[in-house]
Amino acid sequence: MTTAKIHSFESLGTVDGPGIRFVIFFQGCHLKCKYCHNRDLWDCSIGKEYTMKELCMEVIKHKDFFDHGGGITVTGGEPLLQAEFLAEFFETCQALKIHTALDTAGSVPLTKNVRNVLQHTNLVLLDIKHIDDEKGKELTGSSNKNTLAFAQYLNDKKIPMWIRYVVVPGYTDSPEDVKKLADFLAPMTNIEKIEVLPYHEMGKHKWELMGDKYQLENVKAPTKDSIENIKKILERK
Ligand code: SF4
Repeated sequence: MTTAKIHSFESLGTVDGPGIRFVIFFQGCHLKCKYCHNRDLWDCSIGKEYTMKELCMEVIKHKDFFDHGGGITVTGGEPLLQAEFLAEFFETCQALKIHTALDTAGSVPLTKNVRNVLQHTNLVLLDIKHIDDEKGKELTGSSNKNTLAFAQYLNDKKIPMWIRYVVVPGYTDSPEDVKKLADFLAPMTNIEKIEVLPYHEMGKHKWELMGDKYQLENVKAPTKDSIENIKKILERK
């Protein structure tokens, strides 16, 4: 793969990894999360094509901003759909002493290209959509089996990870499911942080722009109490 399909960049990201991040949004996603706030990133056939040199030049242009304790974060979409390119890109970034973070749902097989990406990844921000396979399929259209195997692999390889869990009332907030997730994560020694994120409707307009019906029309954002309770269960406090 000699080029990557990129949707956009964010030059001063502050939430997708440590420090200031240069965030790169890779085009294309194979999941169909009902709450997706990046509905415009699903289509793998569009996006601006960048060669390795062009993308590295974008990064280098912004290096002064993120150089002190920050780095780059690739997100999407699902960046691992372009794993061959990404592996070489991360290898190049690390050779330039740039911290690499990968924001992913991990919902891909652990192919050689994916393992090559992880070999050059300093931090994975892993979105676990659901611990229950059937409920996960209802929420995202896909099985969670690859994601759970992916988390296990990161732990085995001692690759640092932040867990991200989106609380969607009626879908992901049952205490039983959250306890099951806490049990799954408990033996893992590579988890640096668990982020519990409230569902929001901010991407709704993108569904409408794409001519699609928004899937969670009547779902409200979770309460602060609900978020706190889920945090406590996941952090085992
Ligand atoms: S994985 Fe992310 S980009 Fe893909 S559908 Fe889900 S929320 Fe949207």
